[in-house]
Amino acid sequence: MGRKIGSRYTANQILGRGSAGTVWLGEGPEGPVAIKLLREDLSSDQELVSRFVQERTALLGLDHPNVVSVRDLVVDGNDLALVMDLVRGTDLRTRLDRERRMAPEAAVAIVADVADGLAAAHAAGIVHRDVKPENVLLDMQGPLGPGGAHPALLTDFGVAKLIDSPRRTRATKIIGTPDYLAPEIVEGLPPRAAVDIYALATVLYELLAGFTPFGGGHPGAVLRRHVTETVVPLPGIPEELWQLLVQCLAKAPASRLRASELAARLREQLPLLVGMPPLDVDEPGSEAAEALEEEAAPVAPRERVRRGAVPLVPGAKPDSNRDTHTSMRVPGPDELAGGARGTARVPRASGAPRPGSARNRASVARRRRITLSAAAVALIAAVGVGTWAATSGDDGGGTPSDTKNSAPTSP
Ligand code: ADP
Ligand code: MG
Repeated sequence: MGRKIGSRYTANQILGRGSAGTVWLGEGPEGPVAIKLLREDLSSDQELVSRFVQERTALLGLDHPNVVSVRDLVVDGNDLALVMDLVRGTDLRTRLDRERRMAPEAAVAIVADVADGLAAAHAAGIVHRDVKPENVLLDMQGPLGPGGAHPALLTDFGVAKLIDSPRRTRATKIIGTPDYLAPEIVEGLPPRAAVDIYALATVLYELLAGFTPFGGGHPGAVLRRHVTETVVPLPGIPEELWQLLVQCLAKAPASRLRASELAARLREQLPLLVGMPPLDVDEPGSEAAEALEEEAAPVAPRERVRRGAVPLVPGAKPDSNRDTHTSMRVPGPDELAGGARGTARVPRASGAPRPGSARNRASVARRRRITLSAAAVALIAAVGVGTWAATSGDDGGGTPSDTKNSAPTSP
């Protein structure tokens, strides 16, 4: 006997727990469904419930094979639930944790699927705003695609938009992972479709490399990198694929591809990637990379930083775990200004090329280092942290579901 959700659904078994609530395997009039039951503190918020109902049309309107459809919204007593298509499989984060890096063909196939889903959302005026591996589900019952990849579906449209309110965020001071945040969000501009492209390109980079281009260390440092750092080439990546990544990670939103174009260009690459093994790169700051770095330019051990983390306060120890963002403190302007140096994160193929080699020098030369004045860094970071805090609705589950859409009042 399951738990009744409204008059039409029964929740039978827990599938997973997220930051916004618990996801149940349920049963509806048309068969099995996934039911996300929102946390009680959310469902008891009257303002949130009314916004939930207002958003109904936009949320229910999105129908695409690469989007997890929301079929129904249920407000019943204290229960607030989203009824979704059931995806039998796993999320992309779980897969990435297991494999560390994916073969380029499978990675590109998955990202092309998500880009197709985004194209449909963007055409409907909906910006996802929280594209990350946690929000991509892999349908293990679907047909195998290129590289043995299962169909990928983007989920969590709209939930955080509902949950997120400045009042709630201020009250709980919760901030989500900044690894996928587009620079224009850091700078306080309103998020448009291009933020999803930036986030998706970050996901592709992560699937290929095993780490995100600007992640690691204190969230303030990550925010600053999004705005000031140029993405560093991955050794061994095919040039055309690299150009796509660079274009979609452009600082200027207008320079990025649109979702449909990205999907098409990625699929063009697939035949060239057949049989290619996962890239062999070391995460900047990892022990192997450090050993090579030290050979090239010995540094005092005190100044070396683990896992790409950047100390914002000179001499301070970086945070050891980037998943602990919920317990992180927002740095003060002085600390942020003090961290304006030493943000190098140069990935390197394990073993080769050697530091100081022509290829390595070329890659270092390609890095456009923008030296900001201390005041400018403090300003950008302070605004960024504020915006980021204000745009996140997570409560500490580690995987915030701060999804938002652009709230079109669709008919
Ligand atoms: P949140 O975004 O609130 O943190 P998630 O949407 O990530 O929560 O859901 C938590 C877990 O529930 C996921 O990791 C996944 O295992 C499962 N899940 C979520 N949505 C579905 C779905 N539509 N079908 C099957 N399982 C799902
Ligand atoms: Mg989620």
